Amino acid sequence: MLDKSFLGWPFFEERHRALAEKLETWANANLAAVDHDDVEASCRKLVALLGKDGWLQHTAPGGKEAQLDVRTLALIRETLARHDGIADFAFAMQGLGAGPISFFGNDAQRAAWLPKTRSGEAIAAFALTEPASGSDVANISTMARRDGDGFVLDGEKTWISNGGIADIYVVFARTGEAPGAKGLSAFIVEGSNPRLKIAERIAVIAPHPLARIRFENCRVSADALIGKPGEGFKIAMGTLDVFRATVGAAALGFARRAFAETAARAAKRHLFGAPLGNLQMVQGHIADMAVEIDAAALLVYRAAWAKDSGAARVTREAAMAKLYATEAAQRVIDAAVQIHGGDGVRAGHPVENLYREIRALRIYEGASDVQKVVIARAVAAAGS
Ligand SMILES: Cc1cc2nc3c(=O)[nH]c(=O)nc-3n(C[C@H](O)[C@H](O)[C@H](O)COP(=O)(O)OP(=O)(O)OC[C@H]3O[C@@H](n4cnc5c(N)ncnc54)[C@H](O)[C@@H]3O)c2cc1C
Repeated sequence: MLDKSFLGWPFFEERHRALAEKLETWANANLAAVDHDDVEASCRKLVALLGKDGWLQHTAPGGKEAQLDVRTLALIRETLARHDGIADFAFAMQGLGAGPISFFGNDAQRAAWLPKTRSGEAIAAFALTEPASGSDVANISTMARRDGDGFVLDGEKTWISNGGIADIYVVFARTGEAPGAKGLSAFIVEGSNPRLKIAERIAVIAPHPLARIRFENCRVSADALIGKPGEGFKIAMGTLDVFRATVGAAALGFARRAFAETAARAAKRHLFGAPLGNLQMVQGHIADMAVEIDAAALLVYRAAWAKDSGAARVTREAAMAKLYATEAAQRVIDAAVQIHGGDGVRAGHPVENLYREIRALRIYEGASDVQKVVIARAVAAAGS
């Protein structure tokens, strides 16, 4: 039985509780049998379905919603992740990929793309990382040189989620207004651009569409530039700042699923003449899991609530939420595998799947070590 008491916390309003209930019904009806072998096909199908049924409307402001509601995003990610990792991925990337356009794009860019990413008609990608600059974002070497009334991009991006299936990539490239972080700009590149090549499809422990992509003399028009030249780093960080807490929400969803599987297992499995859950050491694990889940939820929804309440930046709150929730989920899932015994490592078992799903969340959108640096700087700046 899922513990929904957190929905009574003061971070939430009635509309959040209603949405959570509606999404739970939707997820039960639609996510029982997602194909994890052909993940590109699954992602395409899921983006279309999430769009058709209105869930992607929450990934970018527009229509009735004038601004993004991070609590809604987090609740959706948590719920989808609890049901299926690919469904969460498909939803999340529509938000992150479209984020630079929804927060920093002009009216024409927003009108051209957001209705499509919100309806599921266009799949979105966020192309920041390069082979030689992962955590070291300011070291990006993909070049965008001015050419007549447009720009020409040359270089390589890697680990790009939705790479190979995206209709639109937001690409960060060096335009050279200044050295390092101040010389980057953000561009919209259409997946159909013949000079955007898929150099490699990358297989990972929990499969989802990922690619290394290459730009070879890739021309885009001047209206592909998001914001002003030199604002790319600000645009990338501003976007990641909003979505970072929702990575924590996805981790929370994985952890809650691991907890539910474990609680059921501990009640059903009998050892030494009694349910497994009667063993005090197993109870100790279950108590630790429950505490970590509540602590993660508090940090995730604190960060989301702070952003929704008008905080200009939530760097510290979002970094704490992402760091703690992803690390805690790893521990919770590891305990779940342990309590399941051999079944915990049986290929295809839900906890085995979670064990693979959680790992990358401690690396992408800022590795845990990087979050610690961010938190340390933020608390030092605040004088606490
Ligand atoms: C599944 C997956 C999906 C991804 N999707 C996308 C995407 O859609 N778009 C995109 O642009 N990128 C994406 N990435 C890339 C991701 O953001 C990078 O992998 C991440 O930023 C780390 O970069 P790196 O892999 O080059 O590792 P490196 O930068 O080489 O870092 C390796 C390790 O060094 C340590 N480290 C790094 N910096 C510091 C520091 N300052 N202090 C202390 N320790 C540090 C950390 O332990 C880190 O994990 C994805 C990655 C994965 C695995």
